[in-house]
Amino acid sequence: MKNLFDLKGKVAIVTGASSGLGVQFAKALANQGADIAIVARRLDRLEQVKKEIEAMDVRCIAIKCDMLNSNEITSMVSEVKAHFGRIDILVNNAGVGTGIPADTQTDDEWRSTLAVNCDAVYYVAREVGKVMIEQKYGRIINIGSIHSTVAMAGSPISAYCASKGALLMLTKALANEWAKHNITVNTLGPAYFPSEMTSDVMASEGFMQAVQAYCPMGRPGRDGELDGAIVYFASDAASYTTGQYLAVDGGWTAI
Ligand code: NAP
Repeated sequence: MKNLFDLKGKVAIVTGASSGLGVQFAKALANQGADIAIVARRLDRLEQVKKEIEAMDVRCIAIKCDMLNSNEITSMVSEVKAHFGRIDILVNNAGVGTGIPADTQTDDEWRSTLAVNCDAVYYVAREVGKVMIEQKYGRIINIGSIHSTVAMAGSPISAYCASKGALLMLTKALANEWAKHNITVNTLGPAYFPSEMTSDVMASEGFMQAVQAYCPMGRPGRDGELDGAIVYFASDAASYTTGQYLAVDGGWTAI
């Protein structure tokens, strides 16, 4: 039987691949045989991840790119296309987490969250979309969050929720617009997983109590528990799945 999850011969871009979930997404796709372009600002970190991915017997390039600069985004996508000749998969993962009370949040604080978590997600999709339209094939996975659909009691996360909610509707709109080009666009919505972004909140007093209260499985996510979902969306197994949101959250948003 054909392996529906085989990604050999495919080329993937993973943004925000210098730490956390982005590293895991890049390795999960490489594990299925995809060649990978890893992207972030910290090139030293990317170089280390590149070595680990090349050891998996696939090709990898590391590209420094600031998601706040749309010219850098355009150059990054051109560089990937020039290097590999095509772009099949985009994991739009780079993001920032902020926890600032809504009544004191400044314009700049609000804007900086929306700029990375929403504007840049669109800019990268737009540039990669041009390549995918030309080749009549593409898989785009936007990394949302449970906070794409629910807020959290007592947490000052208005900008984060607004950005991740916008990403969900962007996914649906792009899925509609690009379905005719054989491009699928989906959102993955993790609950809490260990990473640089979540280290403070996960170490905070009361975090485990909140998890017990809100998450039926009573624990945060573990390394590797998003691999199946990212590979599914990136692969031929999901050829008729588009505009969808998959929560990987231990049941958090089911209650
Ligand atoms: P993380 O370890 O802090 O990783 C964030 C990544 O985004 C880093 O690689 C960072 O790279 C990159 N990034 C941030 N700002 C950037 C910019 N201006 N330009 C380019 N790259 C930038 O956090 P994470 O938890 O893995 O988060 C990854 C994604 O998952 C985010 O979209 C987050 O919202 C989402 N998410 C995470 C969780 C969780 O529990 N961890 C849950 C739901 C959703 P550089 O600093 O090197 O540029």
